[in-house]
Amino acid sequence: MDAYVRMIAIQSLLAHTRGMDQITISEGLKRGLRRHCPHCDSPTLFSGYLTVQPRCPVCGADNGQHRVDDIASYFTILLVGHLVIAPSLAIPWVWSAPLWASMSILMTLVLVITLTALPYIKGGVIGVLAATGDKKADDAKQRPASRTD
Ligand SMILES: [Zn+2]
Repeated sequence: MDAYVRMIAIQSLLAHTRGMDQITISEGLKRGLRRHCPHCDSPTLFSGYLTVQPRCPVCGADNGQHRVDDIASYFTILLVGHLVIAPSLAIPWVWSAPLWASMSILMTLVLVITLTALPYIKGGVIGVLAATGDKKADDAKQRPASRTD
């Protein structure tokens, strides 16, 4: 692991000195979906379940500045709805079984898939935001000055 992190740091430093630290949207998405740093591809994007490390310890990228808001939750709900809810409505057993049985199975599936997919989808969103250059700092610059009437 230590050698891997060192190799990634050297690659990142070389790319940075050559001015090649700009990533494509597909690269950012792939790296983020694996919960890796979108800039250097090291597994250091999250410090917890959903907590983003403000700075990558390998390449120093400011990954904490990307405003994910609720879009990761939205994509997760969209995925779960298509994977669990819609197919379950087409299965006749769901309608004929006792309510407690069908709901306990469906809700367990929804809970497991949601909690499993959410950090990966959040990583993918951060990767796309890193590739497109969307930052909190950009929003602060574009905000008009507050009026003092
Ligand atoms: Zn990094």
